[in-house]
Amino acid sequence: MEEKMIINVDKLPQKGLKVSRNYEFSSEGLVEESAVFLHPVHAELTVKKAGEDILIKGNITTLISFVCSRCIIPFEFPVDSKFDVVYLPEELDVMKDHLEGDDINKLFYYENKIDIREVVFEQLNLSFPTKPLCSENCAGICPVCGKIISSGKCACVKRISDPRLDKLKMFIGDKS
Ligand SMILES: [Zn+2]
Ligand SMILES: [Zn+2]
Repeated sequence: MEEKMIINVDKLPQKGLKVSRNYEFSSEGLVEESAVFLHPVHAELTVKKAGEDILIKGNITTLISFVCSRCIIPFEFPVDSKFDVVYLPEELDVMKDHLEGDDINKLFYYENKIDIREVVFEQLNLSFPTKPLCSENCAGICPVCGKIISSGKCACVKRISDPRLDKLKMFIGDKS
């Protein structure tokens, strides 16, 4: 296991700190529980102090396997996510009730510490799609036979159930 990286805000150098490391995560706690990590998560970050605020800017990359929410086939999903976040001291968290609008979503640090591993994990969750899809136009599973349509195994004829068309077909049939 990699060593923990907890930043002590008081000891943060004036010019900031550069972090470049890999993290191994399990699927536990991920918003998308079907996710499986195919690569470690690589994080490149800069952590800077601006008064009491801590600015964290960076990029996380990894390769994840999701299960498609339509056809339930696993597919690979590359993550390459840039982010720019601000952590405020905990004193402001107590005053959260008085914050408005965007301020409600602010992040806070406690006891003058920031766990970089947690920052990376949080940003990773935010980079996930709400409904993972193997492709934008995945046809999913056939409601008739239950087979995966895109695999070509489904032989059900897609009927156009438009009564006007049915009438038209009858009409044509009469004529011929
Ligand atoms: Zn799919
Ligand atoms: Zn079918």
